[in-house]
Amino acid sequence: MSEDGLKRVSVLGATGSIGASTLDLLARARDRFAIEALTAHSQVDALIAAARRLKPAVAVIGRADLYQKLKDGLQGTGIEAAAGHQALLDAAQRPVDWAIGAIVGAAGLEPTLAAARHARVLALANKECLVCAGALFKDELARHGTDLVPVDSEHSAIFQVLAGERPERVERLILTASGGPFRTLTRREMEGVTPEQAVSHPKWSMGAKISIDSATMMNKGLEVIEAFHLFDVPPERIDVVIHPQSVIHSMVSYCDGAVLAQMGEPDMRTPIAVALAWPDRMPTPVKRLDFAAMAALTFAAPDEARFPCLALARAALQGGGALPTLLNAANEVAVQAFLRREIGFLAIPEIVERVLASAARPAPGSIADVLDLDAEARRRAEAEIRGLARTVAAAPGQSRMR
Ligand code: NAD
Ligand code: MG
Repeated sequence: MSEDGLKRVSVLGATGSIGASTLDLLARARDRFAIEALTAHSQVDALIAAARRLKPAVAVIGRADLYQKLKDGLQGTGIEAAAGHQALLDAAQRPVDWAIGAIVGAAGLEPTLAAARHARVLALANKECLVCAGALFKDELARHGTDLVPVDSEHSAIFQVLAGERPERVERLILTASGGPFRTLTRREMEGVTPEQAVSHPKWSMGAKISIDSATMMNKGLEVIEAFHLFDVPPERIDVVIHPQSVIHSMVSYCDGAVLAQMGEPDMRTPIAVALAWPDRMPTPVKRLDFAAMAALTFAAPDEARFPCLALARAALQGGGALPTLLNAANEVAVQAFLRREIGFLAIPEIVERVLASAARPAPGSIADVLDLDAEARRRAEAEIRGLARTVAAAPGQSRMR
């Protein structure tokens, strides 16, 4: 807490979907928070608008070429403007009471680690950090005595349900999954889906990358890995169940047969508020559940034949070593290629599988190793995408890459 009694906070990835929900909560409780840093990658206009509204000490744009635009946009506000990779790291290193890691992808690893070293509490939305750097990321938090509070809705649910319980009494973690927009499609029907169809999630409004991950169910695979690191429960005791209504955000079953669930409307402001106020709670304007109006809550086993990404992620977790880092990077590259319409939807798991199969690598021993592995997996995934393009060009009867 700073001298003025306000909680000092930073938002890394302030212009994204999680960033916007976080700023909404902060704007509603101006009397409780002082904002240190807001960061973004390239959405400079959105960053300027957010900074003018929330008045952080510093606003940072990742792309160095946008510095002048940011500086001009903040003219007369007294808010410091900065740009570039090092400026992002410097902002993340400013000591704060609370920081949220809401950057998407492995690009968030270094800034989020910087925050992990200098914040008292790290609220983590950026699950890719834990997937690609797992134990190394946690070591860094432990070394600096930083508390980690998950923001991913499933992990926030488990975090809430575990409070006050003994870890050895936990039998299973049960992650719920909406099933995404293609839950009922056959593989043949999935072959031709467009990025627009894939990003229109039935229950959650999110950034493009996580929306595609939800459609392939790689998101749930990444979340199994995330849960493994957050809660120290072995992979075979982490279940996934499809629950299309997204009312139950996840569950824990205990040794006595009790299953505890956390419920709420699918609105990320609840898990963000849980992290922001932890270990207290704070009010939010989130719509309340109306149980009487709820028709039914349904559950089903996930279909790993139609959604192979889930099995790929589980295999990477079981196989260990470098596999989770490679899985994450290959998936990011494949998702971007799908969004650019260079590959079809079903090519996403194919590319990830090929990168995982291409070479065994030892577990990364340092963050520098993680970054090297990440870069290597990206090169290999890009080569696989070029290979697929050549295959299609050689077989003109086939209208699009899978
Ligand atoms: P988004 O795409 O909406 O926003 C991403 C943010 O990261 C933006 O502010 C962008 O400027 C910044 N960014 C992107 N690339 C960057 C780079 N190279 N360097 C620095 N900053 C960069 O994403 P989102 O949906 O808000 O998701 C953010 C993270 O939270 C992801 O890891 C996602 O898996 C996780 N998450 C999101 C949701 C959700 O509802 N959106 C739910 C659970 C977890
Ligand atoms: Mg989630």
